[in-house]
Amino acid sequence: MKKVLAASVSFCSFSMNHEPGVILKNAGVTVDVNQKGKAFTEAELLEIIDQYDGIIVGTDPMTPYVIKQGKKLKIIAKNGVGFDNINLEAATDQNVFVTITPGAVEQTVADTTFGLIFSLARNITRGEAAIRKGEWPRLIGINVSYKKLGVIGLGRIGKNVIMRSTGFNMKVYAYDPQPDKAFCEKYGVELVDMETLLQASDIVSIHAPLMDSTRHLINEHTLSLMQPGALLINTSRGGLVDEKALIKALREKNIAGAALDVFEKEPLEKDSPLLELENVILTPHLAGMSSDALIASGKMIAESITLAFAGQTPQHVVNKDLLIKMENM
Ligand code: NAD
Repeated sequence: MKKVLAASVSFCSFSMNHEPGVILKNAGVTVDVNQKGKAFTEAELLEIIDQYDGIIVGTDPMTPYVIKQGKKLKIIAKNGVGFDNINLEAATDQNVFVTITPGAVEQTVADTTFGLIFSLARNITRGEAAIRKGEWPRLIGINVSYKKLGVIGLGRIGKNVIMRSTGFNMKVYAYDPQPDKAFCEKYGVELVDMETLLQASDIVSIHAPLMDSTRHLINEHTLSLMQPGALLINTSRGGLVDEKALIKALREKNIAGAALDVFEKEPLEKDSPLLELENVILTPHLAGMSSDALIASGKMIAESITLAFAGQTPQHVVNKDLLIKMENM
């Protein structure tokens, strides 16, 4: 009997009780669910990982040590598409598949991104908070329609954000080191360098992956290029933004506002200065959380796990070197 640790909190709290849980049960897989309600630490994983043939992770740290300790592991199934918390090299060395769930969350994250753009531009969350305190402020925001939108990262989510922007007659600038030129032509997107994007956009939205080369892509210098009235939206990964520099820019009104779904440290620390700023909207990494997305990603995960346990290659493997290695075995 194969045993899986469901570390991903959203998989445990939602997907397990729906079709994905049924698929795993019917395949005879025992699933231990995360009872903590938050991600495991490296130390906690090191203690228990050797019991499991597979693990379903959210942001749990799959470091080389954890993977090495997981001697029985056949698959690390990421509930999502950002796999910066998983050491691919260690997984490949140990013949462990690392899979993601593309196609499940991009609509959800793009919807949330636009929700954040509107909330920030139109002072929706700020007005809501004020009215609950018995206040009736006259909050003057900006329009979203006809504004200039700068999209950093033209992948699955960035493209879906752009598709939505066409309904609001926005002028779109995009930066991506490997852009899909046909997509840009179709949607009238102007491909520019980062500097031009930051200088020209009223709203900048980040949709690039977290890698060594993208860490603190938004920093004191790049923030200084933005317009004083500009808004920054981050639904990608917290590490792409130097939070200290952003706090300074927001305090000094070098940019007008920010909406952040992701943070350098999650959960956000209770004494974070971000909590004191009025020109910021903060959400708890919920951009990809919808029942639609969780059922779709959960089904992909359950199918990947059953395939890996049956000795077959699952879909959406991201450690491609393992596939090459297997072909030569
Ligand atoms: P993707 O892999 O489809 O696209 C990422 C794009 O970024 C690619 O086109 C790539 O070429 C581009 N890129 C790489 N380096 C870049 C750089 N230096 N500057 C600009 N672009 C660069 O990824 P996706 O599925 O669109 O996901 C985008 C981001 O959203 C990831 O960081 C992912 O972790 C994050 N995400 C967040 C949530 C959430 O809940 N907040 C949910 C899902 C995904």
